[in-house]
Amino acid sequence: AKENGRKQYIIYADEFGENVYEKFEITNDFYDALDKEQFKLNYQPQVDLHSGKIVGVEALIRWQHPTKGVISPAKFIPVAEETGLIIPLGSWILRKACLDRKQWLEAGIQDIRVAVNISMKQFQQENFVETVLSILEETGLDPTYLELEITESIAMNKHQDVIKKLTLLREKQIYVSIDDFGTGYSSLSYLKELPINQLKVDQSFVQGIDHGNYQILQSIITLAQAMQLSVVAEGVETEKQAQRLKEFKCSIAQGYLYYKPMPVEDLLPVLKSI
Ligand code: C2E
Ligand code: CA
Ligand code: CA
Ligand code: CA
Repeated sequence: AKENGRKQYIIYADEFGENVYEKFEITNDFYDALDKEQFKLNYQPQVDLHSGKIVGVEALIRWQHPTKGVISPAKFIPVAEETGLIIPLGSWILRKACLDRKQWLEAGIQDIRVAVNISMKQFQQENFVETVLSILEETGLDPTYLELEITESIAMNKHQDVIKKLTLLREKQIYVSIDDFGTGYSSLSYLKELPINQLKVDQSFVQGIDHGNYQILQSIITLAQAMQLSVVAEGVETEKQAQRLKEFKCSIAQGYLYYKPMPVEDLLPVLKSI
Protein backbone atom coordinates (compact mmCIF):
# COMPACT_ATOMS: atom_id res chain seq x y z
CA ALA A 1 0.00 0.00 0.00
CA LYS A 2 1.09 3.55 -0.68
CA GLU A 3 2.06 5.91 2.16
CA ASN A 4 0.38 8.91 0.64
CA GLY A 5 -1.47 10.00 3.75
CA ARG A 6 -4.89 9.49 2.18
CA LYS A 7 -7.76 7.28 3.13
CA GLN A 8 -6.98 3.58 2.90
CA TYR A 9 -9.76 1.12 2.27
CA ILE A 10 -9.93 -2.11 4.17
CA ILE A 11 -11.37 -4.87 2.08
CA TYR A 12 -12.39 -8.10 3.75
CA ALA A 13 -11.53 -11.42 2.16
CA ASP A 14 -15.00 -12.88 2.45
CA GLU A 15 -16.45 -10.01 0.46
CA PHE A 16 -14.36 -10.62 -2.58
CA GLY A 17 -13.10 -14.18 -2.32
CA GLU A 18 -9.76 -15.02 -3.83
CA ASN A 19 -9.24 -11.82 -5.80
CA VAL A 20 -8.98 -9.87 -2.58
CA TYR A 21 -5.34 -8.95 -2.99
CA GLU A 22 -5.76 -7.75 -6.52
CA LYS A 23 -8.79 -5.66 -5.59
CA PHE A 24 -6.90 -4.18 -2.67
CA GLU A 25 -4.05 -3.20 -4.98
CA ILE A 26 -6.39 -1.70 -7.55
CA THR A 27 -8.01 0.43 -4.85
CA ASN A 28 -4.74 1.70 -3.46
CA ASP A 29 -3.30 2.56 -6.86
CA PHE A 30 -6.47 4.34 -7.81
CA TYR A 31 -5.91 7.71 -6.16
CA ASP A 32 -2.50 7.94 -7.73
CA ALA A 33 -3.96 7.08 -11.08
CA LEU A 34 -6.43 9.96 -11.04
CA ASP A 35 -3.67 12.41 -10.06
CA LYS A 36 -1.15 11.10 -12.53
CA GLU A 37 -3.51 10.97 -15.47
CA GLN A 38 -3.21 7.24 -16.04
CA PHE A 39 -6.81 7.02 -17.23
CA LYS A 40 -7.57 7.45 -20.89
CA LEU A 41 -10.75 7.51 -22.90
CA ASN A 42 -10.91 5.53 -26.11
CA TYR A 43 -13.71 6.19 -28.55
CA GLN A 44 -15.64 3.72 -30.67
CA PRO A 45 -17.70 5.11 -33.56
CA GLN A 46 -21.29 4.03 -34.17
CA VAL A 47 -22.44 3.91 -37.78
CA ASP A 48 -25.72 4.26 -39.61
CA LEU A 49 -26.22 0.78 -41.10
CA HIS A 50 -27.56 2.14 -44.36
CA SER A 51 -25.36 5.15 -45.15
CA GLY A 52 -22.25 3.92 -43.31
CA LYS A 53 -21.93 7.39 -41.78
CA ILE A 54 -20.70 7.88 -38.22
CA VAL A 55 -23.57 9.09 -36.04
CA GLY A 56 -21.93 8.94 -32.63
CA VAL A 57 -18.98 7.73 -30.58
CA GLU A 58 -18.94 5.87 -27.27
CA ALA A 59 -16.30 6.76 -24.68
CA LEU A 60 -14.67 3.67 -23.16
CA ILE A 61 -12.19 4.08 -20.33
CA ARG A 62 -8.77 2.45 -20.08
CA TRP A 63 -6.32 2.43 -17.18
CA GLN A 64 -2.72 2.65 -18.25
CA HIS A 65 -1.21 1.16 -15.09
CA PRO A 66 2.51 1.87 -14.58
CA THR A 67 3.42 -1.77 -13.87
CA LYS A 68 0.40 -3.87 -14.82
CA GLY A 69 -0.12 -2.47 -18.31
CA VAL A 70 -3.59 -1.65 -19.58
CA ILE A 71 -6.32 -2.73 -17.15
CA SER A 72 -9.79 -3.38 -18.56
CA PRO A 73 -12.75 -1.40 -17.21
CA ALA A 74 -14.54 -4.72 -16.67
CA LYS A 75 -11.95 -5.26 -13.92
CA PHE A 76 -11.68 -1.86 -12.23
CA ILE A 77 -15.12 -0.27 -12.69
CA PRO A 78 -16.73 -2.82 -10.29
CA VAL A 79 -13.99 -2.08 -7.72
CA ALA A 80 -14.50 1.65 -8.21
CA GLU A 81 -18.22 1.10 -7.58
CA GLU A 82 -17.67 -0.92 -4.42
CA THR A 83 -15.35 1.69 -2.93
CA GLY A 84 -17.18 4.82 -4.06
CA LEU A 85 -14.22 5.90 -6.18
CA ILE A 86 -16.52 5.81 -9.18
CA ILE A 87 -17.84 9.23 -8.12
CA PRO A 88 -14.65 11.24 -8.75
CA LEU A 89 -13.72 8.94 -11.65
CA GLY A 90 -17.17 9.27 -13.21
CA SER A 91 -16.96 13.07 -13.07
CA TRP A 92 -13.51 12.94 -14.64
CA ILE A 93 -14.87 10.76 -17.48
CA LEU A 94 -17.79 13.10 -18.15
CA ARG A 95 -15.60 16.19 -18.13
CA LYS A 96 -13.00 14.63 -20.44
CA ALA A 97 -15.64 13.41 -22.90
CA CYS A 98 -17.27 16.86 -23.00
CA LEU A 99 -13.91 18.58 -23.54
CA ASP A 100 -13.02 16.14 -26.33
CA ARG A 101 -16.38 16.65 -28.02
CA LYS A 102 -15.86 20.37 -27.83
CA GLN A 103 -12.53 20.06 -29.62
CA TRP A 104 -14.09 18.08 -32.46
CA LEU A 105 -16.73 20.77 -32.75
CA GLU A 106 -14.00 23.37 -33.05
CA ALA A 107 -12.48 21.19 -35.79
CA GLY A 108 -15.77 21.43 -37.68
CA ILE A 109 -17.34 18.08 -36.74
CA GLN A 110 -21.09 18.60 -36.43
CA ASP A 111 -24.02 16.35 -35.58
CA ILE A 112 -22.40 13.42 -33.77
CA ARG A 113 -22.98 12.77 -30.09
CA VAL A 114 -20.50 11.54 -27.52
CA ALA A 115 -21.93 8.71 -25.39
CA VAL A 116 -20.73 8.27 -21.81
CA ASN A 117 -21.34 5.17 -19.68
CA ILE A 118 -22.86 5.90 -16.28
CA SER A 119 -22.54 3.44 -13.43
CA MET A 120 -25.27 2.59 -10.94
CA LYS A 121 -23.66 4.35 -7.94
CA GLN A 122 -23.07 7.43 -10.01
CA PHE A 123 -26.64 7.61 -11.30
CA GLN A 124 -28.04 7.05 -7.82
CA GLN A 125 -26.22 10.04 -6.33
CA GLU A 126 -28.79 12.55 -5.26
CA ASN A 127 -26.99 15.33 -7.13
CA PHE A 128 -26.30 13.30 -10.29
CA VAL A 129 -28.27 15.57 -12.64
CA GLU A 130 -26.73 18.72 -11.12
CA THR A 131 -23.26 17.22 -11.56
CA VAL A 132 -23.89 16.51 -15.25
CA LEU A 133 -25.32 19.98 -15.85
CA SER A 134 -22.48 21.71 -14.04
CA ILE A 135 -19.89 19.78 -16.09
CA LEU A 136 -21.68 20.84 -19.29
CA GLU A 137 -21.67 24.43 -18.12
CA GLU A 138 -18.06 24.36 -17.04
CA THR A 139 -16.87 22.82 -20.32
CA GLY A 140 -19.25 24.93 -22.43
CA LEU A 141 -20.56 21.94 -24.39
CA ASP A 142 -24.07 22.19 -25.81
CA PRO A 143 -26.12 19.42 -24.08
CA THR A 144 -27.43 18.13 -27.43
CA TYR A 145 -23.98 16.66 -28.08
CA LEU A 146 -24.06 14.53 -24.94
CA GLU A 147 -25.55 11.06 -24.63
CA LEU A 148 -25.71 9.09 -21.39
CA GLU A 149 -25.77 5.28 -21.40
CA ILE A 150 -27.45 3.74 -18.39
CA THR A 151 -27.81 -0.01 -18.15
CA GLU A 152 -31.13 -1.75 -18.11
CA SER A 153 -30.60 -2.71 -14.45
CA ILE A 154 -30.09 0.94 -13.45
CA ALA A 155 -33.21 1.94 -15.38
CA MET A 156 -35.34 -0.75 -13.75
CA ASN A 157 -34.33 0.20 -10.20
CA LYS A 158 -36.18 2.78 -8.07
CA HIS A 159 -38.72 3.70 -10.67
CA GLN A 160 -39.81 7.17 -9.52
CA ASP A 161 -36.27 8.37 -8.93
CA VAL A 162 -35.16 7.16 -12.36
CA ILE A 163 -38.10 8.85 -14.08
CA LYS A 164 -37.44 12.08 -12.22
CA LYS A 165 -33.76 12.18 -13.17
CA LEU A 166 -34.28 11.14 -16.78
CA THR A 167 -37.01 13.75 -17.20
CA LEU A 168 -34.64 16.50 -16.02
CA LEU A 169 -31.90 15.29 -18.38
CA ARG A 170 -34.31 15.12 -21.32
CA GLU A 171 -35.56 18.63 -20.59
CA LYS A 172 -32.00 19.79 -21.21
CA GLN A 173 -31.93 17.83 -24.51
CA ILE A 174 -29.39 15.30 -23.27
CA TYR A 175 -29.85 12.04 -25.19
CA VAL A 176 -30.49 8.91 -23.10
CA SER A 177 -29.79 5.29 -24.08
CA ILE A 178 -30.49 2.05 -22.29
CA ASP A 179 -27.32 -0.05 -22.45
CA ASP A 180 -27.03 -3.86 -22.56
CA PHE A 181 -30.72 -4.05 -23.34
CA GLY A 182 -32.20 -7.54 -23.16
CA THR A 183 -29.94 -8.79 -20.37
CA GLY A 184 -31.97 -7.40 -17.48
CA TYR A 185 -35.55 -8.02 -16.58
CA SER A 186 -37.38 -5.09 -18.03
CA SER A 187 -41.01 -4.73 -17.41
CA LEU A 188 -42.34 -3.39 -20.69
CA SER A 189 -45.03 -1.23 -19.12
CA TYR A 190 -42.31 0.28 -16.99
CA LEU A 191 -40.01 0.80 -19.97
CA LYS A 192 -42.79 2.66 -21.73
CA GLU A 193 -42.88 5.26 -18.96
CA LEU A 194 -39.19 6.08 -19.20
CA PRO A 195 -38.28 9.26 -21.07
CA ILE A 196 -35.50 7.70 -23.18
CA ASN A 197 -34.31 7.97 -26.77
CA GLN A 198 -32.56 4.74 -27.63
CA LEU A 199 -32.02 1.05 -26.85
CA LYS A 200 -28.61 -0.56 -27.23
CA VAL A 201 -29.12 -4.27 -27.85
CA ASP A 202 -26.58 -6.31 -25.92
CA GLN A 203 -23.89 -7.91 -28.04
CA SER A 204 -24.85 -11.42 -26.95
CA PHE A 205 -27.99 -11.11 -29.12
CA VAL A 206 -25.95 -9.97 -32.10
CA GLN A 207 -23.60 -12.93 -31.70
CA GLY A 208 -26.67 -15.17 -31.53
CA ILE A 209 -27.19 -14.52 -35.25
CA ASP A 210 -24.28 -16.86 -35.97
CA HIS A 211 -26.12 -19.71 -34.25
CA GLY A 212 -29.48 -19.03 -35.78
CA ASN A 213 -30.75 -17.37 -32.59
CA TYR A 214 -32.11 -14.09 -33.79
CA GLN A 215 -35.68 -14.14 -32.51
CA ILE A 216 -34.96 -12.04 -29.42
CA LEU A 217 -32.87 -9.59 -31.42
CA GLN A 218 -35.64 -9.19 -33.96
CA SER A 219 -38.23 -8.72 -31.20
CA ILE A 220 -36.15 -6.03 -29.49
CA ILE A 221 -35.78 -4.11 -32.77
CA THR A 222 -39.51 -4.35 -33.40
CA LEU A 223 -40.23 -3.25 -29.83
CA ALA A 224 -37.92 -0.23 -30.19
CA GLN A 225 -39.66 0.80 -33.39
CA ALA A 226 -43.09 0.43 -31.82
CA MET A 227 -41.94 2.71 -29.01
CA GLN A 228 -40.35 5.15 -31.46
CA LEU A 229 -36.91 4.58 -30.04
CA SER A 230 -33.68 4.44 -31.98
CA VAL A 231 -31.86 1.10 -31.75
CA VAL A 232 -28.13 0.34 -31.75
CA ALA A 233 -26.74 -3.17 -32.21
CA GLU A 234 -23.54 -3.64 -30.23
CA GLY A 235 -20.61 -5.96 -30.91
CA VAL A 236 -21.18 -6.33 -34.66
CA GLU A 237 -18.21 -8.32 -35.94
CA THR A 238 -19.23 -9.91 -39.25
CA GLU A 239 -20.85 -8.98 -42.55
CA LYS A 240 -23.41 -11.69 -41.97
CA GLN A 241 -24.51 -10.05 -38.72
CA ALA A 242 -24.65 -6.63 -40.40
CA GLN A 243 -26.74 -8.08 -43.24
CA ARG A 244 -29.26 -9.60 -40.84
CA LEU A 245 -29.47 -6.37 -38.85
CA LYS A 246 -30.30 -4.47 -42.03
CA GLU A 247 -33.02 -6.98 -42.86
CA PHE A 248 -34.44 -6.44 -39.38
CA LYS A 249 -34.37 -2.68 -40.02
CA CYS A 250 -31.95 -1.92 -37.20
CA SER A 251 -30.68 1.63 -37.76
CA ILE A 252 -27.28 1.84 -36.03
CA ALA A 253 -24.39 -0.57 -35.47
CA GLN A 254 -21.27 -0.54 -33.35
CA GLY A 255 -18.53 -3.16 -33.43
CA TYR A 256 -15.16 -4.36 -34.65
CA LEU A 257 -16.55 -4.80 -38.19
CA TYR A 258 -16.64 -1.01 -38.46
CA TYR A 259 -14.24 0.44 -35.90
CA LYS A 260 -12.43 -0.72 -32.78
CA PRO A 261 -12.26 1.64 -29.81
CA MET A 262 -9.39 4.05 -30.57
CA PRO A 263 -7.35 6.72 -28.80
CA VAL A 264 -8.61 10.26 -29.16
CA GLU A 265 -5.66 11.22 -31.43
CA ASP A 266 -6.75 8.62 -33.97
CA LEU A 267 -10.43 9.55 -33.92
CA LEU A 268 -10.30 13.09 -35.27
CA PRO A 269 -8.77 12.08 -38.64
CA VAL A 270 -11.48 9.39 -38.94
CA LEU A 271 -14.24 11.91 -38.19
CA LYS A 272 -12.75 14.36 -40.67
CA SER A 273 -12.53 11.77 -43.44
CA ILE A 274 -16.27 11.13 -43.59
P1 C2E B 1 -20.25 -1.70 -22.64
O1 C2E B 1 -20.70 -0.34 -22.25
O2 C2E B 1 -21.30 -2.68 -23.02
O3 C2E B 1 -19.20 -1.48 -23.81
C1 C2E B 1 -19.06 -2.32 -24.93
C2 C2E B 1 -17.85 -3.20 -24.80
O4 C2E B 1 -17.77 -4.05 -25.96
C3 C2E B 1 -16.53 -2.43 -24.77
O5 C2E B 1 -15.64 -3.17 -23.92
C4 C2E B 1 -16.07 -2.51 -26.23
O6 C2E B 1 -14.67 -2.34 -26.38
C5 C2E B 1 -16.51 -3.90 -26.59
N1 C2E B 1 -16.71 -4.08 -28.03
C6 C2E B 1 -16.95 -3.15 -28.97
N2 C2E B 1 -17.13 -3.71 -30.19
C7 C2E B 1 -17.00 -5.04 -30.01
C8 C2E B 1 -17.08 -6.17 -30.92
O7 C2E B 1 -17.31 -6.06 -32.12
N3 C2E B 1 -16.92 -7.40 -30.34
C9 C2E B 1 -16.66 -7.58 -29.01
N4 C2E B 1 -16.51 -8.82 -28.57
N5 C2E B 1 -16.59 -6.53 -28.14
C10 C2E B 1 -16.75 -5.29 -28.64
P2 C2E B 1 -14.73 -2.43 -22.86
O8 C2E B 1 -14.20 -1.16 -23.43
O9 C2E B 1 -13.73 -3.43 -22.35
O10 C2E B 1 -15.73 -2.04 -21.70
C11 C2E B 1 -16.36 -3.04 -20.95
C12 C2E B 1 -17.43 -2.47 -20.06
O11 C2E B 1 -16.84 -1.61 -19.06
C13 C2E B 1 -18.42 -1.57 -20.80
O12 C2E B 1 -19.39 -2.36 -21.45
C14 C2E B 1 -18.99 -0.75 -19.66
O13 C2E B 1 -19.95 -1.47 -18.95
C15 C2E B 1 -17.75 -0.58 -18.77
N6 C2E B 1 -17.15 0.73 -19.08
C16 C2E B 1 -16.27 1.07 -20.06
N7 C2E B 1 -15.97 2.37 -20.01
C17 C2E B 1 -16.69 2.89 -18.98
C18 C2E B 1 -16.82 4.20 -18.42
O14 C2E B 1 -16.22 5.19 -18.88
N8 C2E B 1 -17.66 4.33 -17.34
C19 C2E B 1 -18.34 3.27 -16.81
N9 C2E B 1 -19.14 3.47 -15.77
N10 C2E B 1 -18.25 2.03 -17.33
C20 C2E B 1 -17.43 1.85 -18.39
CA1 CA C 1 -22.03 1.17 -23.10
CA1 CA D 1 -23.34 -2.43 -23.88
CA1 CA E 1 -21.71 -4.65 -21.46
